[in-house]
Amino acid sequence: MRFLLAQFQQESNSFSPVSGTMEMFKNNCLITGEEILSYFEGTQTEMGGFIKALREINAEIIPSVAASSVSCGPVKDDVCEFVFSKIIEDIGKEGGIDCLLLCLHGAMLLESQWDGTGWFLERLRSIIGKDTLIACSLDFHANLTEKMLQNSDILIGYKTYPHIDLVETGYKTAQLAIRTIRGEVKPVMKMSKLPMILKSEASQTDQYPMNAIIKHANEIEEREDIISASVFQVQPWLNVKDTGCSCLVISDGSASKAQSYSAELARHFWEMRHEFRFEPVPVHYAIQKAVENKKSSPVIFADSADGTGSGSPGDSTAILSELLAGNIMLKTYLSVVDPEAVKCAIDTGVSNTGRFLIGGKIDKVHSKPIWVTGKVKTLSDGNFVLKGPQSTGKTCDMGRTAVIKVNEIYIVLMENSVNNWDPSLYRSLGLEPMDARIVVVKSPAAFRAAYADISQEAYIVDTPGVSSANFHRLPFDKITRPMYPFDDFDYEVVG
Ligand SMILES: [Zn+2]
Repeated sequence: MRFLLAQFQQESNSFSPVSGTMEMFKNNCLITGEEILSYFEGTQTEMGGFIKALREINAEIIPSVAASSVSCGPVKDDVCEFVFSKIIEDIGKEGGIDCLLLCLHGAMLLESQWDGTGWFLERLRSIIGKDTLIACSLDFHANLTEKMLQNSDILIGYKTYPHIDLVETGYKTAQLAIRTIRGEVKPVMKMSKLPMILKSEASQTDQYPMNAIIKHANEIEEREDIISASVFQVQPWLNVKDTGCSCLVISDGSASKAQSYSAELARHFWEMRHEFRFEPVPVHYAIQKAVENKKSSPVIFADSADGTGSGSPGDSTAILSELLAGNIMLKTYLSVVDPEAVKCAIDTGVSNTGRFLIGGKIDKVHSKPIWVTGKVKTLSDGNFVLKGPQSTGKTCDMGRTAVIKVNEIYIVLMENSVNNWDPSLYRSLGLEPMDARIVVVKSPAAFRAAYADISQEAYIVDTPGVSSANFHRLPFDKITRPMYPFDDFDYEVVG
């Protein structure tokens, strides 16, 4: 069996001021050919899962291209052309592949296409035809579309959020592809889509109410003729007409079972919508809790509205400015994406004190730069490796990075945006989170798994930003209405 492996993974946020440029991908992962195997083999990623399953049967692996970016705005068309052309070139060169195994996100916008993933799959299908299997792993936050279903054979999503089952999802996807090629199963996919978006902060799969939906999906997977049942809590910051949560069931040859079970699952999901409750707390409230904290562990501030894994640029100064205004002398770690300030810190030099204009330069709508006087503590190349449990082993590149100390606040200034939900970011710079009283992460929920051993006291703070949980603050003007929670209405799931 011959498998062509590719990754094209980015979660788009319609409101982000940052484009998904080639540079953004190069800063995260953009590699081709054999390097893909050494980069991913053994990692806790979908690609790691693909490779594991294929090695087990001694399949022939043709690694084509791996492209992923930190979450931001729509992806530039030239990036899509590069990935698409490389896959087509490799298929042409190698010929006779049995399966195109793809690691996708599922909520990617292109600058010219609102359904970037569906359009990408449609183009691939038009070239490779219907006889070659297309099997894809997807993120729990995918925005499933009919075009995606029509132009693929197998779609399987993560079952966890925080996402700690990446390798399992990749492995399961590849195994199903293997069984399909052997003629052991005939996957039939049906989805049920809901006119609903939910706050990511309220959608952890190990907590009520999402755990009830996942449990239901797992029960469906145990039924006769059912291969897979996925639930997708769509990335909510998609200002496109066809957005919404969805459920997807894959049966072995039975369209009616796939349809009726996906509808059953979606009906349950819809009926639970009012249970997904969450309200962020004011920054001053979280600061007060940190002041009162008598435990040896720090308090986590989750700046989800500036979440770099949710499309925000990571350059907000909202928390920093409140800490400075309140003259808070608690040891604090926070991060700001700001290449200009990094350069200024490098020019100032380690152990020297300087004046720095920080943050608010990328998202000028929700944040503003502030002046600080601080001492340069550390300069670094900004590379670190995620310790997990999500994406364990993945290397992140902050670009040139500086730590400056302002009062008791250690500000990590970085050139490139990266996910800030793993303590490895701070530890790579000599900042041990257990030694701090406040640690700022830029994430709605992913941090909870990575920081579980460090602190259980975390507050999602109410700050402005393009990934705010307060949807009414953002200009959703292209989504189909009615849409929950903007409208509350009766909806009947068909099937
Ligand atoms: Zn996700």
